[in-house]
Amino acid sequence: MTPAITANTALFLDIDGTLLDLARTPDRVKVPRELSRALEKLSDHLSGALAFVSGRSLESIDRLFAPFRPAAIGTHGGEIRGADGAIARSQPLPEKVAEIFTGLAENIPGLLLEDKRSALALHYRLAPEAHPVLLSAMEKHARLFESENVHILHGKAVIEARRRGVDKGTAVAILAKQKPFAGRAVLFGGDDTTDLDVFRILPQLGGEGFSVGQQFPGAGYIFDSPLAVRRWLTEAAAEAQVQ
Ligand SMILES: [Mg+2]
Repeated sequence: MTPAITANTALFLDIDGTLLDLARTPDRVKVPRELSRALEKLSDHLSGALAFVSGRSLESIDRLFAPFRPAAIGTHGGEIRGADGAIARSQPLPEKVAEIFTGLAENIPGLLLEDKRSALALHYRLAPEAHPVLLSAMEKHARLFESENVHILHGKAVIEARRRGVDKGTAVAILAKQKPFAGRAVLFGGDDTTDLDVFRILPQLGGEGFSVGQQFPGAGYIFDSPLAVRRWLTEAAAEAQVQ
């Protein structure tokens, strides 16, 4: 069974692992043209109440889906762009934390450091053997992170530092109160641990959720793969057009 998208839905969608298949590096993902088209149609159908919710920066999101530029939550809540295009950003990370992440990227071959302004992400998909080293580095600096109010997030082949209290869930709650999302039935989809923050607040928003590849608490529907999600969205867009 798939979730229903009606004209009164507010659709919040994670990107990597939910809409798109994961690639060896974040730059190499491919956006199928049918997906962009389907999302644009759905966004029109929902009067703009469609938003991406991603760990990527807004810049990176826009590069993927250009020229489509809907509302979006970037860097796990560090950046929020409303449907009107106005952007709110959280503060950058403390210097000391940035130095630790930069140092690791410089010293371990194969690591990619992604600077998202309000967050830093270390990608180790090309150097999986570095994972234990990274874990012990995170452990070593745990007290510093704590005192600097920085939260360390473990995703799929990525470790990310960002300010505490800034997460996808908080950001979705903020965006859900704005036009044209306010008053609509929230539907969120995600595949990763960073999406759990959204699933957690869905009951407060009276929303529904779907997960991809695994069952998450709070997700009423499961899709096997991003491909299954794309098929569902493409069908929903085709039906929306007929109405
Ligand atoms: Mg994801």
